[in-house]
Amino acid sequence: MSKKIAMLPGDGIGVEVTKAAKQVLEAISETYDINFEFSTYDIGGSAIDQHGTPLPKDTVKGCKGADAVLLGAVGGPKWDQNPSDLRPERGLLGIRKALDLYANLRPVKGFKQLVHASPLKEEIIQGSDLLIVRELTGGLYFGKPSERQDNGNAVIDTLSYTKEEMERIIDKAFQSAQIRNQHLTSVDKANVLESSKLWREIVEEKRKEYPDVTVDHVLVDAAAMKLITDPTDFDVIVTENMFGDILSDEASVLTGSLGMLPSASLAENGVGLYEPAHGSAPDIAGKGIANPIAMILSAAMMLRYSFALNDEANAIESAVESVINQNYHTADLNNENGQLVNTEEMTRLIIQAIKSVD
Ligand code: ATP
Ligand code: MG
Repeated sequence: MSKKIAMLPGDGIGVEVTKAAKQVLEAISETYDINFEFSTYDIGGSAIDQHGTPLPKDTVKGCKGADAVLLGAVGGPKWDQNPSDLRPERGLLGIRKALDLYANLRPVKGFKQLVHASPLKEEIIQGSDLLIVRELTGGLYFGKPSERQDNGNAVIDTLSYTKEEMERIIDKAFQSAQIRNQHLTSVDKANVLESSKLWREIVEEKRKEYPDVTVDHVLVDAAAMKLITDPTDFDVIVTENMFGDILSDEASVLTGSLGMLPSASLAENGVGLYEPAHGSAPDIAGKGIANPIAMILSAAMMLRYSFALNDEANAIESAVESVINQNYHTADLNNENGQLVNTEEMTRLIIQAIKSVD
């Protein structure tokens, strides 16, 4: 098997963590006899510097022609004062739109070794392991009109969805539940919102197609509370754009650090884009101390969701877990009992663990 991967390192620690993920994928390629063909393209601030635009045409073309895209992070103080069309984030929003990435998947897993890094209690973090499936291209953030009215004395934002837009994200969530633990929690506000009532009807219709999956409906306010009081109640959560935005940031507290959180953004039949939840971290860029795990776990998601290479994805995830369980940690994780390592050492430990399993 051979797969084409477009690499978009971007800016700051994006460059350092994509290098780490590439090394891990090369180890997978050696261990499992899969061929990865990497091509690197510019995006964000570094693309502005070299091509005068945050999203060069070549980058879009390269991503569309690839089987999957791995993205580091964009942005940094150097470009903060740029006019809006020359801002690094334009590159990120532009590539998401160009690839029509409507489904955002964010797995969250709590490790007991990392409890020091989280304000939550050990009992709550331990054993939490869930996936948030968020709709990414509809709802309140894209509804028109969104404007001031009545000379600025009134405002309107619009929450709109078509049935098709809801169906495709709900389908994606059911399929994700099937490859995890067959338990889906649909989060809405069906006691108030018309959009949530239709959402709930569609979930009820769709569950007939996935009889192996158990379904719960939870109102978003209750879900927000349960997420940090009893996260083990959840396995896969599916929700619309804004609810998902808020809940996924809330859930990130369970892991202890942004440096642990991967994400996948998927299109209907197109290419998927995989990136860490964190940004370019200008405060630590160039020091070689960034935690590469979010990016490495994003590469594992790529293997699972774009290439159906589940054994290989599991191998990466188990390797990360075993290194964390041996109490190794990067600077962001603040594990008082552990051994501090840098980006390169963490990557090497993970590769070692992958190779020793086989
Ligand atoms: P953006 O606007 O791009 O989302 P941000 O302002 O939210 O960026 P991040 O770049 O994500 O910020 O960084 C937030 C904090 O977390 C910083 O102090 C950064 O150093 C730290 N951080 C983020 N990612 C990592 C990582 N992989 N390893 C270590 N520290 C990290
Ligand atoms: Mg941020």
